[in-house]
Amino acid sequence: MSKYTICIDPGHWPGSVNCAPDKSYWEYEFTWDLYTRLRPLLEKQGFTVVGTRTQQENPSQTARATVSNKAGADLFLSIHSNAVSGGWQPPRGFTAFTSSGPETAERNQAATAILGAVKDAGVILFGTGKPYYRGYTVLTATTAPAVLLECGFHTNREDVALLKDHAYRDKLAAAIARGIMDYFGMENQQPESGNPDQADSWAKEAWAKAAATGIFDGTRPSDPLTRQEAAVVLDRLGLLPEKGE
Ligand SMILES: [Zn+2]
Repeated sequence: MSKYTICIDPGHWPGSVNCAPDKSYWEYEFTWDLYTRLRPLLEKQGFTVVGTRTQQENPSQTARATVSNKAGADLFLSIHSNAVSGGWQPPRGFTAFTSSGPETAERNQAATAILGAVKDAGVILFGTGKPYYRGYTVLTATTAPAVLLECGFHTNREDVALLKDHAYRDKLAAAIARGIMDYFGMENQQPESGNPDQADSWAKEAWAKAAATGIFDGTRPSDPLTRQEAAVVLDRLGLLPEKGE
């Protein structure tokens, strides 16, 4: 298991900053949601995760950096989503900021690992696809290698449609977690989560039986069961009497 501590900063707070021009989706909604998806993925891999705020709090950038410094974090990650001015605009994609070069600095290796994993997951990257440098206080006042992620543009129609999609947010969270593990040189502690057709270890035996006997078809072990799928399973078990004699 990991001995590393990660400080995650879930961007802004209700009422602040970036929003879609049609006011349909706010940055604070996205950042908090992604935080709640990313945090358990990292904890499953054994990371100690520290958050910079609760849902309704709005600490200063310096206070957010202090949380990370006090925790002795090995990595600081600030989650944001982007916007440009002037309504719907073409710029789109995922990007990462660090305080400065060189490319070999730990912060830039971490950013590059996350960008690589996100790209591998099929997410569109903004611009060069490399980390950009910006002197945000959360990036300069943190002692841990610090990366700020801008996960897409609220002012791009395609991006905001993706950001609103919970399956896309799951994909983003999984890819960011993958990138963090790559940065720390870690193997996935739960390889089954990387393969959508493999059951979790606690369910493996039952899942294999269910697939072998045809009760389930052996795909999508982590998907919720719909009412019609439940009916088919009951029928395959012979639990539904024939009707109408
Ligand atoms: Zn932001």
